[in-house]
Amino acid sequence: MTDLPFHEQVREPLEAILVAVREELVAHRAKDYPNEAVGIITADGTTYPLINQARSPKRFEVSEQLVTEAIAQLKVRKRHPVAVYHSHPESSSDPSKRDENMMAEMPQATFVIVGQDGIAAWMWDEQLRFILKIPLKDI
Ligand SMILES: [Zn+2]
Repeated sequence: MTDLPFHEQVREPLEAILVAVREELVAHRAKDYPNEAVGIITADGTTYPLINQARSPKRFEVSEQLVTEAIAQLKVRKRHPVAVYHSHPESSSDPSKRDENMMAEMPQATFVIVGQDGIAAWMWDEQLRFILKIPLKDI
């Protein structure tokens, strides 16, 4: 592999996947509006919508049981999860304080946020101890 930092290594494949799911993400954001929409993005360029049990415009919540079921379903369908997405119905695609805390707890996960200004991808950098925006083109 290369010496590129991890967020640079994932950038290109992630970009291609996000182009493929872009419309699904925007449609899910609209469908669950005014509440936050949440789901999983898979490597083959599809989405697996989850239920936001918080039913809130400011946050999302998915029980561990639902996540476990979703992962099992994806495994059966041989689909590989690559990112967690959620929408920001009334704000930008920048992570909230709550999102930042969640990212720090899941350092290996990529978070995709569908905001009023478009779609952005974020991840926690364990070395820098900081949240990085994965730079994406044409999304
Ligand atoms: Zn958020």
